[in-house]
Amino acid sequence: MKAMNTSVKKAPFIFPLEQVLRNGKFFAAAIQQVCRNRLTVINYHRVIDSENLNTNSDHSLVSASTIQFAEQMEFIGRYFNVIGIEQLLNWLSGDTELPEYPLLITFDDGYLDNYQFALPILQQHNFPAILFIASDCIDSTRPFYWDLMAYCFNHTQKNQLIIPLLNSYQWHTEEQRNLQKRQLQIDLKKLPETEKLNIVEQLPDMLDVAVPEDAFSSLYLDWDQVRALNNADVAIGGHTKSHPILSRVSLGQARSEVVDSKTRIEEELGEPLRAFAYPNGQQNDFNKDLEALLQDVGFEVAFSLIPGPTSFNEVWENPYAIRRLYMNQKDSLARFSAKLLGLSRLLYQFG
Ligand SMILES: [Zn+2]
Repeated sequence: MKAMNTSVKKAPFIFPLEQVLRNGKFFAAAIQQVCRNRLTVINYHRVIDSENLNTNSDHSLVSASTIQFAEQMEFIGRYFNVIGIEQLLNWLSGDTELPEYPLLITFDDGYLDNYQFALPILQQHNFPAILFIASDCIDSTRPFYWDLMAYCFNHTQKNQLIIPLLNSYQWHTEEQRNLQKRQLQIDLKKLPETEKLNIVEQLPDMLDVAVPEDAFSSLYLDWDQVRALNNADVAIGGHTKSHPILSRVSLGQARSEVVDSKTRIEEELGEPLRAFAYPNGQQNDFNKDLEALLQDVGFEVAFSLIPGPTSFNEVWENPYAIRRLYMNQKDSLARFSAKLLGLSRLLYQFG
């Protein structure tokens, strides 16, 4: 009789990330081990529920719904000591100690929902935070280029876009259209800033979309709301004027983007701006020249969006490249907690 093949095919190993992180004891022990002497900085863009969103803006920048945000703040309150930017600056100048497990909450860009929906939740916990503002979005009715792109893609009847010397994009379903918009955004980020903006300016014509004047009203903060946030312990930081990737413009342009915006915000707030966040914030989006420029014009710290917490030593050595964890609406609480632990690489592999 022929022997039966008894070899059993091994099931692939799947890392039980969700289960492990849902275990509160595991998380508390892991935090105690790894987060005591490092600075954890988390970053949000928009905090808003889907029913409050319309098709006029880029939904991929939603970092959390209000329920997710409330859960995340509750979670942080259990394991971390939330600090404000002033505590960080005082520690850097040697005046005070940081508490153990320090965590800084940051927001970027200047969306109205930060004031409407995130602030009340922060206030329930008495958490300070900092918001980095690109001042043009407060001062003008011009949208950020990604919101204009979203408007055009969401309202076009066309199903293709050909941009000479760049790429062509085709879609048949809403999902494909969103993917193509995302692809265009990736392609545009590789171009010099002026070229990128020229193409985006032409999108309404290319996609045959009329953009009403009030399409972006009530999307961004106004100065009264910026001041109200500042008075409510959400400090304000710099994020340039028009949000260019600073390494893709000349150093002279970078300087005026940084200085003009700093001066403008200081005028409105009546106090100095001390912290900055690099637009886009990836490894290639800033460099030593830009770090020196920020120091020269009076910023004391600057934040990237390179993931991971930063050790106290790293912050001391270079306060102009502090890492931040980019939050996303797709983050479950387990995924959120994994990010806090600095498991971003594991998340890419298994997430
Ligand atoms: Zn930004």
